[in-house]
Amino acid sequence: MSAMLELSDVEVRYGRLVALRGLSLEVHKGEVVCLIGPNGAGKSTAMAAIAGGVPRVAGSIRLNGQELPARKPEQIARLGLSLVPEGRHVFGTLTVEENLRVGGFLRGNARESAAALERVAGYFPRLKERWTSPAGRLSGGEQQMLSIGRALMTNPRLVMVDEPSLGLAPLIVDAVYEILLELREREGLTLLINEQSSHRILRFADRIYVIRNGTIQLHGTAEALRDGEAIKAAYFGFK
Ligand code: ATP
Repeated sequence: MSAMLELSDVEVRYGRLVALRGLSLEVHKGEVVCLIGPNGAGKSTAMAAIAGGVPRVAGSIRLNGQELPARKPEQIARLGLSLVPEGRHVFGTLTVEENLRVGGFLRGNARESAAALERVAGYFPRLKERWTSPAGRLSGGEQQMLSIGRALMTNPRLVMVDEPSLGLAPLIVDAVYEILLELREREGLTLLINEQSSHRILRFADRIYVIRNGTIQLHGTAEALRDGEAIKAAYFGFK
């Protein structure tokens, strides 16, 4: 089966620092793939490279078999890709609805935009209740849901979520993952998720890549890596 997204031998440098060195991974349609690694391993850089957010990328990044051209954010959305950034980045003074509308700004068509809003409200009843509240007043979990909802406004096929668990209580993290899995089921979404810990992800992901020092140290199905020992060794670099 050919991959929906395929990174091969990707290298990214920030000045003299090599953030990604020969990173290769693939994501198939309908999969939940998780990239796990410590702080600074290169997870966010990998997503930025896919989304066109780093200036120079060596190697190859293909979407549905086509080399991704130099991209602007709106082109990324048109290709069916969406990024939920680390730290959510909601607009605190705008309401929930306004934040979602910002996510859908590419939709020139008012009817499509209204339909997208309604769809998102259906997945996130909690957001619906807070529709006219400024996003800055939402809890961390609600802001994470808003950030995911905003990413859905362009009708993506592949959603990249950078550290959805960051700063959230375990029960809230579970709720966020339940929604992500529901989106996969009901919308046929494909998900690439960055996390610092494998703890919860082993329950939710289909496949896992462990990244350290800008390169993949280990990959396998969540099933095969279930006991966590191989992940721990790859994560910390034990021999
Ligand atoms: P985190 O969990 O902190 O987000 P990460 O795995 O996402 O970690 P990256 O943020 O991709 O890691 O960082 C990879 C390396 O690149 C780190 O050494 C980081 O300091 C460096 N880096 C990231 N962004 C920049 C930048 N804009 N300019 C310079 N160096 C950067």
